[in-house]
Amino acid sequence: MKKKMLTGFRPTGRLHLGHLHGNIGNMINYQEEYENFFFLVDWHALSTEYQNPKKIKSNLIDCVIDLISLGIDPELTYIYRQSDIPEISELTLYFSMITPISWLERCPTYKEQLKELKAKDLSTLGFLAYPVLMASDILIVNADIIPVGEDQLPHLEITREIARRFNNLYGKFFTEPKEMLSNATRVPGIDGRKMSKSYNNAIFLSDGFDVIKKKVRKMITDPQRIHPTDPGHPDICNVFNFYQLYLKKRINKIEERCRAGEIGCTLCKDELADIIYNYLEKFRSRRKELEGNVDYIYKILEDGKNSVREISTKTISAVRKKMGIS
Ligand code: SF4
Repeated sequence: MKKKMLTGFRPTGRLHLGHLHGNIGNMINYQEEYENFFFLVDWHALSTEYQNPKKIKSNLIDCVIDLISLGIDPELTYIYRQSDIPEISELTLYFSMITPISWLERCPTYKEQLKELKAKDLSTLGFLAYPVLMASDILIVNADIIPVGEDQLPHLEITREIARRFNNLYGKFFTEPKEMLSNATRVPGIDGRKMSKSYNNAIFLSDGFDVIKKKVRKMITDPQRIHPTDPGHPDICNVFNFYQLYLKKRINKIEERCRAGEIGCTLCKDELADIIYNYLEKFRSRRKELEGNVDYIYKILEDGKNSVREISTKTISAVRKKMGIS
């Protein structure tokens, strides 16, 4: 039997390069090897977008189109919506009974997001309990492998702790999932922080060439380089970080010409913008085809729901029995 790989995606806006080179890339690379679960986390999206929830639904369809355009194959992957699986919310309720509040309060992502997203009121139970909902997403299908970025590791650790606690209290049932880190564990945004729509530093997959070029031009390079012929230090340059994502074989050449002062930063950035735009060509043409076939997208979500509920209803019935409430 194949192991189960699962990843969730927040339908809060357009996809960007951070998504592509993070967990989505891993799902695409390994989709033949595992039984795959890819779901749109609309409940998670509510935890930060509860004041403006209308966009979540339309974003959701756009996201599915993006994912399939990128190469997620619906024949190999269950694609579904979190809110179509009611057993996830029931499992969250049971897990919330056994999860100490201190596990959630100490989570570094929680503290970081409270600080970074100051414009939103996130002092809610739903936002604090985000990792409990995530644990339910994963454990409802007993997933083995979770593609994550480094920043998500503390959440996954809480999932393992919840699984362990449940198993200790009621008898072994849940698998403790393992992380699969992407090669690009932390894709930087144009300002060097983690790429995120919320930080306004993302290059979106749908950006046109001029927009990509403008964004790349804003990237921070080696601050010691004044003239194009000054020797550069690619190791401290954000542009070079991006080159490493796209050029495997030619990367030494890029490094050499930078260190030797053979190219100016503006030209180096413009070449990178070309590379990024061309890399996304196949995605753009596939997306155009799918935009005209929204019924197909709804059918994929319906099929995904039906397949996953076959598993989730069995899980929840076993959990009820173990917790003595059936
Ligand atoms: Fe960065 Fe390119 Fe400038 Fe070197 S030449 S510092 S790699 S932008």
